[in-house]
Amino acid sequence: MTDAFSLPPEAAEPRLSVAARALGLLRTVPALAPRYADRPAALTTLDELAALPPLVKDDLNVALDHLEPRAGTGATWLFQSGGSTGAPKVGYAPTGFYMAGVHAHWQPLDREDTFVNAWGAGRMWGAHFLAAALADLAGCRVMALGSVTREEYGDWLGFLADQRATAIGGTPSVLRLWFAHARATGLKLPALRKVIWLGEAWQPQLAEDVAAVAPQARRWGMFGSTETWVVGTNTPDCPADTFHPLPEQLVHVGPDGLLDFTTLNPEMLNPVLRYRTGDAGELTTCPCGRPGRAMRVLGRRDSVVQVRGLGLHVDELVARAEREPGVARAQVVITEHGGRATGVDVLLLTHRSAGPDAAVGAAAVDTARLRTELLSATFTLSTAFQHDPENFRVRAVEELVSNDRTGKTAGFVVRPADQEEA
Ligand SMILES: [Zn+2]
Repeated sequence: MTDAFSLPPEAAEPRLSVAARALGLLRTVPALAPRYADRPAALTTLDELAALPPLVKDDLNVALDHLEPRAGTGATWLFQSGGSTGAPKVGYAPTGFYMAGVHAHWQPLDREDTFVNAWGAGRMWGAHFLAAALADLAGCRVMALGSVTREEYGDWLGFLADQRATAIGGTPSVLRLWFAHARATGLKLPALRKVIWLGEAWQPQLAEDVAAVAPQARRWGMFGSTETWVVGTNTPDCPADTFHPLPEQLVHVGPDGLLDFTTLNPEMLNPVLRYRTGDAGELTTCPCGRPGRAMRVLGRRDSVVQVRGLGLHVDELVARAEREPGVARAQVVITEHGGRATGVDVLLLTHRSAGPDAAVGAAAVDTARLRTELLSATFTLSTAFQHDPENFRVRAVEELVSNDRTGKTAGFVVRPADQEEA
């Protein structure tokens, strides 16, 4: 069973006192105590850890509500955590955001860099501050840009080129907008060497746009969540879906292929004990040659949604649409009425609509042909819409549907029929 862990027993077990403390805390949470009641109090081996029940997002929020942890020194920061709809749920971190442990093993930035921090700041989002802490440890120049509106990309890109920015960091879907705009307008960032990302899977189309805009730039990825903070990192020599877990993060692959995470960092405020993010994955050897077990992330299990009783693989549909020349991003919108899918729309953000002056070189996307291809190639769609194929639509739009609260633009959105556009 221990080969399902990222660390061998001799490396992990001496540090399980941190997990034992998390277990003790979780036992004090009235709503969670019963599930740990018949478990032994000791937690000294990986087998004992694997026998504990996993936590899911809501469990951790319930625990934090009760525990209200505080940092030993400095401020205790509250960040958005949990569901992408409804009121924000809260995760905690001390100033520094555990980035010293990340920087000890991963240094994408150095003193010579001019780093553009393009993760949104504010709204209790964590990534901007986490990246700022990394830049602090690297001692580089920092431009805390945050999020900008579509109309501003052109001016800011010119400024970043003038400043000879060498590194930029953001969520792949936001970086995608930056680089798609630059590419469509013919703007280059010749000094850019590093693209740092966190928050979503890397996107092949982003790699193409980066290659066109900043030929010297290479990607540096972090994997994590607001609950676990940074779990692992990769370098340009690693596959984009493969990360090297930090020694203070214990990764476990369950029999169902779902990943769960246990912190071995005594300063961690969230009681992260077999916490599931919903990502599936496997432990593997990274082709970059770095020894130890690497974690390959295979995507979220919840990317399969039910459409008229059939499972629709949203990620596959989005990936297929995004392979179409001229498509910057795609999004699947499922309209529901009374729990039944009345329609599925594939929205396309084309290079033409990526900015006001982005028409240069952008080919018009043949949405009718793409629709026919998607419909015939996707069993779920062709079957579910057999009698009303007109309710599967593909169309180019000016903007995708994003969540105003989290700022995230998900690969798929479900909305009630009364919010459907006329
Ligand atoms: Zn590697």
